[in-house]
Amino acid sequence: MPVEVIGSLPPDIADLVERHGRAVAAGDLRATMADFRPDRIGQLAASASLPVDLESSEVRRLVAEPDGSVTAFIRYRAAGGAAILLRSRWVRLAEGWRVHHVRNLPETPPRPPTGGPSDGGLDAPHWQGLRAGELRIQRCGGCQRWIWAPRPMCPNCYSTDLRWPAVAPAGTVYSWTRTWQPFTPELSGHLPYVVVLVELPEAGGRRVLGVLRDSDAATVRIGQPVKGDFDEPADGQGWPLLRWSQS
Ligand SMILES: [Zn+2]
Repeated sequence: MPVEVIGSLPPDIADLVERHGRAVAAGDLRATMADFRPDRIGQLAASASLPVDLESSEVRRLVAEPDGSVTAFIRYRAAGGAAILLRSRWVRLAEGWRVHHVRNLPETPPRPPTGGPSDGGLDAPHWQGLRAGELRIQRCGGCQRWIWAPRPMCPNCYSTDLRWPAVAPAGTVYSWTRTWQPFTPELSGHLPYVVVLVELPEAGGRRVLGVLRDSDAATVRIGQPVKGDFDEPADGQGWPLLRWSQS
């Protein structure tokens, strides 16, 4: 299949990406890492998730980006027949074209292996709420104060009459950060991702942390509205996660 080219590519990049794909498929770590940005080698080596038994590579698409960088889509095939699509961004440095970041496609937010109620069970109603498709936030039955993170006692009136009403999963971005570093193995293939701290107007302005969907190229602004939805675990095991999207 011919490579789909979008825009006007610099002359040397197509061959370089082709060679890079072959090096990755051959398991040639030295050649693969030589194409990485020197200041990001460790990060890039852990960014993509690939099986060990790769057999072939195929450059599918090359895009000349407005900022002068190039986006490459390379499809890898493993011995078992599985196909994996990676998207890499290439930038031209003084020493030549280098991979700036790479991720698996389709773009999906990371899913931690843990999740669910904490050991003490204090937040169990919140997690049960997610299973029921609701965002439940703790609220004091005495003084009506909203409480997050959950506590065993109201910090305002010391009541233990704590309730878990559902609020709309909608709010505004109070703060956010984009993470490029694969801190744990399950983040491989999902980088970069954006964590947002979302202020919930229906819960008295309490703020919850979550991952923003489709955030790789997203421009995020403080104060912008976001909506949450419930991301069920793919295998039916584990707990749903609340994901946020720009609304
Ligand atoms: Zn209270």
